[in-house]
Amino acid sequence: MITAVVGANWGDEGKGKITDVLAQESDYIVRFQGGSNAGHTIKNEFGKFGLHLMPSGIFNKEAVSVLGNGVAVNAKKFIEELASIEEAGVPHGKIIISDRAQLVMSYHMAFDAYEEERLAGHSFGSTKAGIAPCFSDKYAKIGFQVADLYADKEVLMARIENVCTIKNVLFENLYHKPQIKPEDIYEELMEYAEILRPYVAHTSQVLNDALREGKKILLEGQLGALKDTDHGIYPMVTSSSTLAGFGSTGAGLPPYAIERIVTVVKAYSSAVGAGAFVSELFGDEADELRRRGGDGGEFGVTTGRPRRVGWFDAVATRYGCMMQGATEVAVTVVDVLGYLDELKICVGYEIDGEVTKDFPNTPLLEKAKPVYETLPGWKTDIRGIKNYDDLPSECKAYIERIEKEIGVRVSMVSNGPAREELIIR
Ligand code: GDP
Repeated sequence: MITAVVGANWGDEGKGKITDVLAQESDYIVRFQGGSNAGHTIKNEFGKFGLHLMPSGIFNKEAVSVLGNGVAVNAKKFIEELASIEEAGVPHGKIIISDRAQLVMSYHMAFDAYEEERLAGHSFGSTKAGIAPCFSDKYAKIGFQVADLYADKEVLMARIENVCTIKNVLFENLYHKPQIKPEDIYEELMEYAEILRPYVAHTSQVLNDALREGKKILLEGQLGALKDTDHGIYPMVTSSSTLAGFGSTGAGLPPYAIERIVTVVKAYSSAVGAGAFVSELFGDEADELRRRGGDGGEFGVTTGRPRRVGWFDAVATRYGCMMQGATEVAVTVVDVLGYLDELKICVGYEIDGEVTKDFPNTPLLEKAKPVYETLPGWKTDIRGIKNYDDLPSECKAYIERIEKEIGVRVSMVSNGPAREELIIR
């Protein structure tokens, strides 16, 4: 049985926490896309952790954590993150990395940095983790899979020389930066070969065997549906699919086996980086929500950048749930909204004088204006409440209004960052 935990919004929905909770009853926890370009925040008995590459399941010592073939692996970041977890005394379980995962190279990170420099004020707001250049090379078939680290030197050198020829044209002529040398790239790969050696496995075989044995597999998504390369707000998207459906490809598992798709929805909107954001708040209202938001303010886990915040966007979230194929929804950070006298929900977009509930493509999205509905606030702190029925009636009305708009059952309500602050409905 496979469960996926994925986001319906722009990321930072609190998937880390929901994954951490579900990981406690899983045998395998799998990252299937992305890389170290975003992060989850997990708060549990060992402390507070910002995980970037490591599956959140690392905190279940009985479970196997898997970096699937769909992940862009930064070997140094991986080993650093593992060291920080071990230093905190976390008794983690086994970790395996797909022999088919792509490697993030130093020149991928250099490309990200140079490109941001070149675009200056018009940049995409990249995290400079080299993820877009890495995935571009994957599809251009000039990337390196983990398995290549253990190939014959001659074969590898031929591939490296080809890569250097292509890359150096851009380094020299577009960015006016130093060229890369084949022998340096070979050295870099050999360093990664040593770092990753203990973890490399045929992960899709391992996972399919586990599935046949009736084990529980948890797929852990990074970012949200609106950052999906195809279905998101292109080009302000990420470079790998963020959808549960891609879990099949990015982990190498049968699509029909992904039975449960827990889609995480944030009780208000937040986004990092550029792109249209219809229900965005500005000024004092935004500052207050940003300061109170998440756990200690809305600032990116990987970048520390302040997040843009706004009212709950039912149009975007309904679409996000549809694209994920949500079978149930977890609404998070509801506790943060307890200070408001009233709350707005964006229930429609007005585009060229017409109101729609269907999420549009990017050029139309840029023109969309929010249509709001206002609901009364609950003006109390709901942290510590364990039963759904004990929530204030205004809070239940807000959640049920969200549920009606998105058309998917809300099965969990998160009312605090800690593992146990979760109301199962
Ligand atoms: P992810 O990328 O979807 O895992 O989201 P992040 O971990 O980046 O951001 C979510 C933030 O909200 C983190 O700081 C969490 O600790 C925090 N968080 C998660 N759920 C709740 C909640 O129900 N209430 C509050 N106050 N914070 C939460």
